[in-house]
Amino acid sequence: MSLKKLLLLLIIVALFISAFVFNLTQYLSLDVLKEKQQQLNQLFVDYPFQVFAVYFVIYVASTALSLPGATILTLGAGAIFGLGWGLLLASFAASLGAFLAFLSARFILHDWVQEKFGERLTAINRGMERDGAFYLLSLRLVPLFPFFVINLVMGLTKIKAWTFYWVSQVGMLLGTAVYVNAGTQLAQISSLGDVVSADLIGAFVLLGIFPLIAKAVLAFLKRRKAFKGYKKPKSFDNNLVVIGAGSAGLVSAYIASAVKAKVTLIEKHKMGGDCLNTGCVPSKALLHVAELAHNARNASSAGVHVGEVSVDFKQVMQQVKSVIKDIEPHDSVERYTNLGVNVEQGDARIVSPWEVEVTSNVEGKSETKRITTRSIIIATGAKPLVPNFEGLNKVDYLTSDTLWELDELPKRLLVLGGGPIGCELSQAFQRLGSQVTQVEMAERLMGPEDADTVDLLTRRLTAEGIDIRLNHKALRFEQHNGESVLIAEHTVDKESEEVQLPFDKVLIALGRQPNISGFGLEELGVQTNKTVSTNELLQTNFPNIYACGDVAGPYQLTHVASHQAWYASVNALFDPFKTFRADYSVIPWVTYTSPQVANLGLTEQQAKKADKPYEVTEYDIGELDRAIADDSAYGRVKVLTKPGKDELLGVNIVGPQAGELLAEYVLAMKHGIGLNKILGTIHSYPTLAEANKYVAGEWKRANAPQKLLTWVEKFHRWRRG
Ligand SMILES: Cc1cc2nc3c(=O)[nH]c(=O)nc-3n(C[C@H](O)[C@H](O)[C@H](O)COP(=O)(O)OP(=O)(O)OC[C@H]3O[C@@H](n4cnc5c(N)ncnc54)[C@H](O)[C@@H]3O)c2cc1C
Repeated sequence: MSLKKLLLLLIIVALFISAFVFNLTQYLSLDVLKEKQQQLNQLFVDYPFQVFAVYFVIYVASTALSLPGATILTLGAGAIFGLGWGLLLASFAASLGAFLAFLSARFILHDWVQEKFGERLTAINRGMERDGAFYLLSLRLVPLFPFFVINLVMGLTKIKAWTFYWVSQVGMLLGTAVYVNAGTQLAQISSLGDVVSADLIGAFVLLGIFPLIAKAVLAFLKRRKAFKGYKKPKSFDNNLVVIGAGSAGLVSAYIASAVKAKVTLIEKHKMGGDCLNTGCVPSKALLHVAELAHNARNASSAGVHVGEVSVDFKQVMQQVKSVIKDIEPHDSVERYTNLGVNVEQGDARIVSPWEVEVTSNVEGKSETKRITTRSIIIATGAKPLVPNFEGLNKVDYLTSDTLWELDELPKRLLVLGGGPIGCELSQAFQRLGSQVTQVEMAERLMGPEDADTVDLLTRRLTAEGIDIRLNHKALRFEQHNGESVLIAEHTVDKESEEVQLPFDKVLIALGRQPNISGFGLEELGVQTNKTVSTNELLQTNFPNIYACGDVAGPYQLTHVASHQAWYASVNALFDPFKTFRADYSVIPWVTYTSPQVANLGLTEQQAKKADKPYEVTEYDIGELDRAIADDSAYGRVKVLTKPGKDELLGVNIVGPQAGELLAEYVLAMKHGIGLNKILGTIHSYPTLAEANKYVAGEWKRANAPQKLLTWVEKFHRWRRG
């Protein structure tokens, strides 16, 4: 705790204790108030402003210090100043005092509480940010909750200070009015119980829960409004219809069938979606073959001579297809049918909140049927984003969707885009024998990645011969003497010039665009904003329609799609009895270039931007025995921790098998394990995973208790005699 906080805490505690030591609280009793009422009234007549001010200060101070007696002071306001002035004075003094108590608790304890219990408080924090005013209003309206506890506890949450103030002022007004009014007839009160009867307390409780009831009613009306104009079927063919059989849709259907729900999965193209057919699987298979070629070319440096390496591109693509074929059964219609899923092959269209039409091609004829369902999951994925560049229509361009049909290796391949897909495919084609030019308009590749990492990767890609053009903004495509050329704007030090980049084939890898149109969302009124808009339950504005995977964002990764699918399917099947909020706290992501780039949590740049203090520990994979033995000693592990604490904030690895090395940190971060535990775990020798132990060792050395070690050194000196 900082000195300032400690000082304030000491002052508050000292004042609080003094109030009891000097027995000041004895004056805050009904008997004393009644006994002194006449004197106080006379004092007010003689010195109105002074009495006003002194009363205000005493009220604010006693509330700020959480001293008992606010009720007496409020009665006193009525007894001395009358209903109007008394209410004004007591209301503002109570709110200001409460606000000071709130601010003190926030200043002294908020950071500590959030740091210590941050993870566990996430849901509460989110709730307070969203509905804090409602909760506070309810608590304020019900006089059963001790106000001083509310002030202190609210200070520890993330409710905005201004919200706390105005809700307190409004929420306490009614209760204050009751007590001030009672104070105007002080003589008739013999105990505090006379002020509020059980009936009145009951009325307050009803009033207190009113904001919560109102909120529930509003939510109900919102749901009703979304469904307005649609007739709900009396019964349903399915509990769940899932649209799209990619990573998100398959997992959704799997979970629904596992919990014995009746589920229909609709796919218009290929089972397995992008990941199996045009994404993760073919790209990794291609990278593997490219690595074989690369290693074969470099094997002679280790004494293995394989002669001239040639690549049979047709066979390479056959190999990629055969990998897809090998994995296909995992995602097949047969497998899912055996699991109890009703698989429909056709084009799905949502026609009402409870009905989906499937149009299939049956023996050359188009057939449409309508399926009713209690809930729907939209898992329609994304497609490559292809901007409307001038002249692009004259170029036979490739995307990650069409690339896999190539049967000839392009001599000169232009890759437009410096993201993970662009980098992976650039390296694969360069290694297979194309001359690759990679164009990126930003000043570095892989925008959100750690800057040092990108630097290490860029150097490696350049060393392999890829012509990386940073700060090059694609403008248009032209044909020059039968040759395709990209005209790009190259900017250096704010000076721009147009450059010509000729190519044989161009691959557009400029991001992916969610599939949100053409299947009924617009007509129904499902809200979208580039992706399908969902809340934390992955629910759209229609309470029984959910979305997950690339179509919902915010990450476009297979493992995130599957992760979301669990939440979407469980919520779709069990809402309103039990729901779960999607948790994105520990999301790993990997780019499978060589060296690989693996990330978890914050990068250094993100930590800086978020103003989050951090400590960096690095280990050079160039020093790692196994990496040296494998001739892959290039890269580093970088770990961000809370300063002086064994708590992981982020991990960034660039190096061989970085994705595999990351798994240890994913487990650690998910379960709150720190570097001490990683250091204390035996790692087999010689493995690449030892890098994790060594970086933990570096962190331990940097965080060694220096003072203690000085004493230990003295101890050893003493033992040596
Ligand atoms: C080249 C490339 C490499 C990638 N590499 C990786 C990687 O290494 N690791 C990783 O985690 N991610 C990777 N990804 C991303 C990953 O492929 C996606 O995040 C993942 O496929 C998303 O799954 P999804 O289920 O949301 O969508 P998809 O897999 O796209 O599935 C959506 C399905 O819905 C179907 N569909 C759409 N509309 C309808 C309709 N109206 N009716 C019926 N069916 C419909 C589509 O045909 C499709 O099959 C890569 C992507 C690409 C392009």
